[in-house]
Amino acid sequence: MSDRPRTVLVTGASGGIGAAVVTAFLRRGDNVAAHYCRADISARLADWRTNGRGRVAAFAADLTEPAAAGELVAAVAADFGPVDVLVNNAGAAWQGLLTEMSTAEWDYLFALNVRAAFLCAKAVIPAMTRRGQGWIINISSVWGLVGASCEAAYAATKGALLALTKSLAKELGPAGIRVNCVAPGVIDTAMNAGLDEAARAALRTATPLGLLGRPEDAAESAVFLASPAAGFFTGQTLSPNGGFVIY
Ligand code: NAP
Repeated sequence: MSDRPRTVLVTGASGGIGAAVVTAFLRRGDNVAAHYCRADISARLADWRTNGRGRVAAFAADLTEPAAAGELVAAVAADFGPVDVLVNNAGAAWQGLLTEMSTAEWDYLFALNVRAAFLCAKAVIPAMTRRGQGWIINISSVWGLVGASCEAAYAATKGALLALTKSLAKELGPAGIRVNCVAPGVIDTAMNAGLDEAARAALRTATPLGLLGRPEDAAESAVFLASPAAGFFTGQTLSPNGGFVIY
């Protein structure tokens, strides 16, 4: 690893897991480009600037727009230098019977959860290849590993990220680029705000550790996968899930 602070791009940094990923990378001294779409990120930015060791700036983009990923990566590189670590975290869920899902809803989910990861990766790979080093971390989900009733499309997007991770790891390993995946279990964020107390209690009961995950649990896996300690990891999936899924 070179001595200069790394440039880390975290998509979806305005959300629960993404914000924790930003905090964790800043704590270890990396510079972080915190991407957001619609949220007001100013309070988080002020907190990161006060408490982080690395430099942080916010970048807005709607990653369902095909041109946005390339523009985002170019803007980050112009400000911070080329991206060393890409965390493809932005994503959305969709709950309901598959028969009630429209084609537009299916396409939107794949555009955000899968195509944006592809386009962000495509935009960072050339500079990583030139430097012979880089880390791409895709945030999947346990549902991508085992499937989920009433979340078939979401699970399919997350399964696609697992396959993308494995394939890119094979393609990019010779270039020194490590590609890994974090597949969290249920993490307590806005994405799960719709769960009532009964559903949350049922999830805790189904989890051997008896807990819902915290955003930090997912974030620490991402930081580990981009650390020297994970130097022999590529194409792998870490699943912080309290034992909810053991595979
Ligand atoms: P969250 O709090 O709802 O955050 C979602 C993030 O995605 C936000 O930063 C949001 O940006 C961004 N986003 C939404 N639409 C976008 C768009 N069109 N373009 C660009 N960015 C967009 O969700 P989270 O729980 O932190 O989840 C983060 C990732 O972890 C997701 O990929 C999710 O699938 C995965 N995950 C979550 C759980 C869980 O239980 N929470 C479990 C496993 C995996 P704005 O708010 O700025 O619009």
